[in-house]
Amino acid sequence: MTDTAISSETISDADLLVDVRGLHAGYGGIPVVRDLNLTVGRGEVVALLGPNGAGKTTTLLTLSGLLTPLDGDVMVLGEKVDGSKPHTIPRRGLAHVAEDRSLFFDLTVDENIKLGLTGDKGSRKAAHDRAMELLPALKPLGGRLAGLLSGGEQQMLAVARALVSEPKCLLVDEMSLGLAPIIVERLLPIVRDIADQTGCGVLVVEQHVHMALEVADRGYVLNHGEVLLQGSAAELSANRAVLEASYLGDSALH
Ligand code: ATP
Repeated sequence: MTDTAISSETISDADLLVDVRGLHAGYGGIPVVRDLNLTVGRGEVVALLGPNGAGKTTTLLTLSGLLTPLDGDVMVLGEKVDGSKPHTIPRRGLAHVAEDRSLFFDLTVDENIKLGLTGDKGSRKAAHDRAMELLPALKPLGGRLAGLLSGGEQQMLAVARALVSEPKCLLVDEMSLGLAPIIVERLLPIVRDIADQTGCGVLVVEQHVHMALEVADRGYVLNHGEVLLQGSAAELSANRAVLEASYLGDSALH
């Protein structure tokens, strides 16, 4: 781990949206994530990096309450997450853009977005308008079927649907999955804008390490379910070993 790793002590309690301590998470009682400590603060973009199978998706699923922690404490938006009431977590302000984007391909862009709207008519319109300001490329596509969108447009739609619920904390799993690097370069800054303009804390899982660190404040590199490195984006970017470790595993560090 880097010496200057940022811990939860540097974020005030009021600004701490996600506070994970000693998390063991996995499937069938077998941990694939071990002893994870991770924080996300208000207005922060935090990158969760690491090779395939490192445990990134498992971590997000546990934060969303979809997986029950095997051990450790998971606090999300001030309440303990133990997998018992996952449906209450979005109501508290957590939105999760899953790896498969979970769009309804036979519905239009507008219809997909409507599924994420809550509140009365006025607040729904305001939330919709704010999401469109952050994702203006979607504006002219409102009537198009989601299944006919490009991969990048589909990813924007998945983010828009999450955004209209006006989350305090947003989890984004593999924004770049299946997309050309040039599209990823355009998409990732949206995550930065969301954090800056709404104060939402964002935890983003990303394979494009350097691009992710360009928009992130901090990052964690997971390998075989354990944190191999963590630190500010500037520290991690300056460390070539990070990139190698992210893809090749901890053997690249020796
Ligand atoms: P990727 O970048 O490939 O999506 P990841 O870092 O998100 O990988 P996870 O999807 O969290 O990794 O998987 C971590 C480990 O848990 C892997 O070894 C995977 O095979 C295993 N795993 C994932 N889902 C399940 C499941 N439902 N049942 C059993 N094992 C699983």
